[in-house]
Amino acid sequence: MKVEEGVALSRFTTIGTGGPATAFARPETVEALEEALAWARERQLAVATIGLGSNLLVADGGFDGLVLKLGGELAAAEIEGERLVAGGGAANAVCLHRARAAGLGGFEFACAIPGTVGGGVWMNAGAYGSDWAAILERALVVDGHGAHWLGPEELGLTYRRSALRHGQVVARAEFRLEPRPEQEIKAKVSELQALRKAAQPTNKRTFGSVFKNPEHELSAGRMLEACGLRGHQIGGAQISLRHANFIENAGEARSADAIALMAEARRRALEQFGVELEHEVEFLGPLELPPLGA
Ligand SMILES: Cc1cc2nc3c(=O)[nH]c(=O)nc-3n(C[C@H](O)[C@H](O)[C@H](O)COP(=O)(O)OP(=O)(O)OC[C@H]3O[C@@H](n4cnc5c(N)ncnc54)[C@H](O)[C@@H]3O)c2cc1C
Repeated sequence: MKVEEGVALSRFTTIGTGGPATAFARPETVEALEEALAWARERQLAVATIGLGSNLLVADGGFDGLVLKLGGELAAAEIEGERLVAGGGAANAVCLHRARAAGLGGFEFACAIPGTVGGGVWMNAGAYGSDWAAILERALVVDGHGAHWLGPEELGLTYRRSALRHGQVVARAEFRLEPRPEQEIKAKVSELQALRKAAQPTNKRTFGSVFKNPEHELSAGRMLEACGLRGHQIGGAQISLRHANFIENAGEARSADAIALMAEARRRALEQFGVELEHEVEFLGPLELPPLGA
């Protein structure tokens, strides 16, 4: 197994920020993945998996541990009967392409989610009324103790959350789809993509929604807009003019700039609406938001 040292994670995140990983490996089979996990365990190194980095804010100081980026058969996708069988590192776009070509529907909602199958399981990704939990049959999770197939309940899939912890790697997943004419799938995808384009920044470097929607009549985006935060900038990070629940890299942004913006947004939402916003974006490395009221 080849282990690279000091790999800049900014290359692997859609926002384009983040420092280096102490160690970085690209396993392509379950055996290589197990070997990588054993390697890290022997050295007592923390482990994290990275997909397409589309929901990830990595500390500017980097991550002191082994980062895994799945490749080869762990990033491939194929159709078996009415099932989509994919590696944890398979891009959603590739999965959707395979499903459409096979005349299988149910994965169309994922056209809005620029990540991987494993990243989707990690946070039960979803859009337009569907999510991973609705179509996932089971996932092969590999950790320091071996490989186990887990169903949606065992994975603890709820709103933008699973029970998975770093060091548990989604190596494969099987989705239950249903026959649907290719033209119908294409039309649905075009419709959803147009909706996205109208509402969110699609040509900017972002990490998707910053905060989860709170239990409130206003969404996180509407709330932050009402706080006057659209366009607010700290360093190289800016709250999107298009949608206030997005942070854009306006050039040379650091993760610390994004954290400062998030802290400001939480402070204002609490002040104006009495709501404590919870971040949806995942943190990697020593990153945290200051406690509210501090
Ligand atoms: C423009 C834009 C729009 C978006 N819209 C949506 C949306 O509509 N709905 C939505 O839910 N999300 C959305 N997102 C967020 C993001 O695309 C999803 O959360 C996606 O599922 C993340 O997948 P990823 O592979 O990029 O994961 P990463 O960002 O690389 O990682 C996210 C987390 O998953 C873990 N992880 C990744 N792969 C694995 C694996 N194989 N095994 C175990 N853990 C793993 C990582 O360790 C990390 O904790 C959007 C993002 C962008 C940039």
